[in-house]
Amino acid sequence: MKYISTRGDSTPRTFSEAVLEGLADDGGLLVPEALPDLSREWPGWIGLPYPELAFRLLSHLAPDMDPAKLERCCKEAYGDNYGAEVAPLTRVGEYQLLELIHGPTLAFKDVALQLLGRLFGVILEERGEELNIVAATSGDTGSAAIYGVKDVPRVKLFVTHPDGRIAPLQRQQMTTVLNDSIFNIAVDGTFDDCQQMVKELASDLDFKRKHKIGAVNSINFARIAAQVVYYFAAYLQTEGAPSKRPVVFAVPTGNFGNILAAEYARRMGLPIAHLVLASNENDILPNFFQNGVYQRGEARATHSPAMDIQIASNFERFLYLLVGQDGQRVRELMTEFKNNGSLSYAPPEDGKWVALSCSNEKTLETAAEVLKKTGRLLDPHTATAWWAMQQTDHQFGPELERIVVATANPAKFPDILKQSVPQDTAGLEHPKLKALCELPERLFHLPPSTEALKTFVARGIELGAEGVFLQAKEKAKSHG
Ligand SMILES: *Cc1c(COP(=O)(O)O)cnc(C)c1O
Repeated sequence: MKYISTRGDSTPRTFSEAVLEGLADDGGLLVPEALPDLSREWPGWIGLPYPELAFRLLSHLAPDMDPAKLERCCKEAYGDNYGAEVAPLTRVGEYQLLELIHGPTLAFKDVALQLLGRLFGVILEERGEELNIVAATSGDTGSAAIYGVKDVPRVKLFVTHPDGRIAPLQRQQMTTVLNDSIFNIAVDGTFDDCQQMVKELASDLDFKRKHKIGAVNSINFARIAAQVVYYFAAYLQTEGAPSKRPVVFAVPTGNFGNILAAEYARRMGLPIAHLVLASNENDILPNFFQNGVYQRGEARATHSPAMDIQIASNFERFLYLLVGQDGQRVRELMTEFKNNGSLSYAPPEDGKWVALSCSNEKTLETAAEVLKKTGRLLDPHTATAWWAMQQTDHQFGPELERIVVATANPAKFPDILKQSVPQDTAGLEHPKLKALCELPERLFHLPPSTEALKTFVARGIELGAEGVFLQAKEKAKSHG
């Protein structure tokens, strides 16, 4: 199993190399040269505990890794730090809910980042290398990344967020982690400023090499690989499994990472009849599936903020599959997109894909309606997928199991949900989140300047978070 770029650079990389490399040098994303066919093997996985299932599947995608080490990563990632099962399937009203919300930060990104942190640990130890990750977050990714790497030796993580522009709860999830390797940075600016600074820092190749800068966003293939596992886990929990009754998944998607993993699972032999892509009012993906035009617009702030994305980075991996794995063709299309802000390509017409954009109003209405009918409170992201499933339900055969993917605990979004379900105060609380208010925070402040960020990162690598903090305190003292 080799990894190559979506834009034609076919230098083969191992899985471990792909994990450290992030983006390919030609600007493409790394993908498997060919996906393994697991159709004969997976039915035998019924009843396996999640860590074991993950190990079996990932062995196919990461054959270069020492099996004992890979197994240990899976066991640690999906063991005690999950409050319940990793991906339980529960009946809620007329649908099944795949709950990916039981990780340390109560959102689905934990599934991938808990594993990615451990993979970094193993791979870096083997090579005797270190990695410094610089990221920008508007809320959700930051905390999942912090909890993924906070105890991993050889890794430091710098997370920027726009000062005062993320929910207090989301800030506290990040800033209460006081490990020496974790740096939370409030930037006096917007999320776009944060992202711009991180991009500029990473495109300074000298700085990147000198300071061993890496990425944790979903361009990292390990995140997609980890997400493929829960689609198999879901299927294996359906009634009658492993007999091959097809299923439909409705998936809340922003960066196309969550649903891309479902498409990979399908291509690896899981009987998925249809995929329902749910986005919010940022409708670039539904537009593509409906008209074959992928066109950038203005990003809007919605009730499902983790999906407020205009350019879905993983769409490129899907395009690569659509064009028949032709890297040159992808390069042309992405150049077209870069130059014109849009690209055209025929969307899949095999009837497998449906894509819908859920309005803010429908998001809130759906949360209220499902609560009333079933007693279950959905978070706003999950509500978009529930709504999309309802809209398309009549198109699917009655024999198909319908599974809605739940991506966050509703208690992470109390301010949004209070607008539609003010009565459900219990559902809007979680002991883990409540406890955060009591904890001390550590937070650094920077102006919106890439140079300032570079200086800070270089100093942080040298001194650690505690060291930088103490130095700042000394300085404040000597200035009276
Ligand atoms: C990130 C996120 C999503 C979207 O996932 P993608 O990988 O961007 O498709 C959906 N819901 C929640 C709660 C998220 O944090």
